[in-house]
Amino acid sequence: MSAVIKNILSALLAVVLCVSCTQKKSLSPLAYWMSENGKIKVLSTIAQIGDLVDAVGGERVDSLVLVPGELDPHSYELVKGDGEKLLKADLIFYIGLGLEHGASLSALLKSSDKAIPVGDEIRRISPHEILEKDEVVDPHIWMDVSLWQKAVGRIAERLSKADPDGAEYYTARAALLEKEMESTHLYMRDRLQQIPSDRRFLVTSHDAFRYFARSYLAEPREKDWSRRFTAPEGLAPDGQLNPVDIRRAIDFLHKHRIRVVFPESNVSRDAVAKIASASREMGIEVLLCKKPLYGDSTGGLPYLEMMRSNAEVIAEHLQD
Ligand SMILES: [Zn+2]
Repeated sequence: MSAVIKNILSALLAVVLCVSCTQKKSLSPLAYWMSENGKIKVLSTIAQIGDLVDAVGGERVDSLVLVPGELDPHSYELVKGDGEKLLKADLIFYIGLGLEHGASLSALLKSSDKAIPVGDEIRRISPHEILEKDEVVDPHIWMDVSLWQKAVGRIAERLSKADPDGAEYYTARAALLEKEMESTHLYMRDRLQQIPSDRRFLVTSHDAFRYFARSYLAEPREKDWSRRFTAPEGLAPDGQLNPVDIRRAIDFLHKHRIRVVFPESNVSRDAVAKIASASREMGIEVLLCKKPLYGDSTGGLPYLEMMRSNAEVIAEHLQD
């Protein structure tokens, strides 16, 4: 290729990038994502996936999250505009493992050949690491950073398949992200293991922290790790206050002499507030933690910051 043609192509590329950059500044994130700009359009059901897609995809990918903010991904149903997003996406990543069970979303994901259930793929390669409760699969795999790290390779692989020219780029970025996740996992483990073992017991709003308890609160290779965690609501928050579940959580707190309960950012505080007030009536002061934990929602934080924040809040309150 002659130098003149090379110069013309470079100038054209600069113009395209410049237009893309101006578009990004002038359009809303959704309008930009829906616009044609030559990038791979990726839709993720929750931010915990979307953040990994951002990190691996970088400049070659436009990433959008379907379930916004603090909404419950378990029961999310499609709303106006979602159909267009699902249609527009080149790739759709979702957790699977029964997480996205709202009927309209679930039906669409299962029937789409561009939708990839990252959690189900992790289950296929590491079935022994996937938890169940009462024979129901626990979908909250992102709550153990080392387990969620296995999603990175799956995402890089799918992006490379959709955009073979970017394969090296995705592989290199995936390796960097895996390193960062590994060090965050070790940091969290160190931080939480500084709490004496007999204080590492956790009560939150719903069963989102079982992977977390196994990985960060239990002793290494502790068989009976599930004794470290309980929640008044089950694997999916249903907002129903069941007196038996409230009582079980109170007994758990008293048995382990724990004096704090942790609300989750996107789940009603009613159940944990009830636990605190019922304990108070029994003459035992239980604090309702003012800082929320992040389970199903990231609270707008990048995924790894969300996990570090959980570790800090828990360590701060269980330590003393
Ligand atoms: Zn959940």
